[in-house]
Amino acid sequence: MVGESKRVGVMGGTFDPIHHGHLVTAEAALWAFRLDEVLFVPTGQPWMKADREVTPAEHRYLMTVIATASNPRFSVSRLEVDRRGPTFTVETLQELRRQAEDDIELFFITGADAMLEIFHWKDPEEVLSQAHFIAATRPGYDIARFEQEAPSRHPNVSVLDVPALAISSTDIRRRVREGEPIRYLVPEGVETYIRKVGLYQDQG
Ligand code: NAP
Repeated sequence: MVGESKRVGVMGGTFDPIHHGHLVTAEAALWAFRLDEVLFVPTGQPWMKADREVTPAEHRYLMTVIATASNPRFSVSRLEVDRRGPTFTVETLQELRRQAEDDIELFFITGADAMLEIFHWKDPEEVLSQAHFIAATRPGYDIARFEQEAPSRHPNVSVLDVPALAISSTDIRRRVREGEPIRYLVPEGVETYIRKVGLYQDQG
């Protein structure tokens, strides 16, 4: 529309693996915040999380492409996958602005637990000025705790309750390891990819 900037959702996450909870979250944000599109941005190079090694970025990227392929408003960025060294959201948002041909308004969507740490991210004030932040919560999430924390009081932060986020990547990895079904928790193509490559078989 003439004079109106494009509203772009930026779905940041490790996506190890991507599941239906993530897809429902993106669709809910699209609707609730009147977004024109959602760009999924899988995090870059695997780094050690506190408890495990992250699956190589190329596998997580490909699963995200497979999961989002059927939705014309969803696409996937290689920005963080291709960037060397640790990936910082502030750099991703700045790069997306640089690459945009039109005026864009950015909406960064991620899990509420990750969002709680935002004041410990690189350049927190700059990152908060680059986008509106949407913190997705799963059922049973302690929203009172979130509301006590500083990020929730920032004018650029909103909470989005997503019942489908009862699905979690941690649970899917455990299920694969222990031989339980993951059908209907992840898109069919993602399950096929996990089985074909043999992901999550031997992680403790
Ligand atoms: P995480 O710790 O792996 O995930 C935290 C929680 O949020 C998990 O319960 C996770 O559930 C959920 N979650 C993650 N992404 C989600 C999404 N897009 N939608 C809904 N729920 C989501 O978090 P992370 O993946 O490392 O980081 C999340 C985002 O924050 C990434 O884009 C990352 O780059 C950014 N971040 C930036 C900095 C920085 O700039 N310094 C620091 C930390 C994080 P599942 O496991 O089921 O996904």
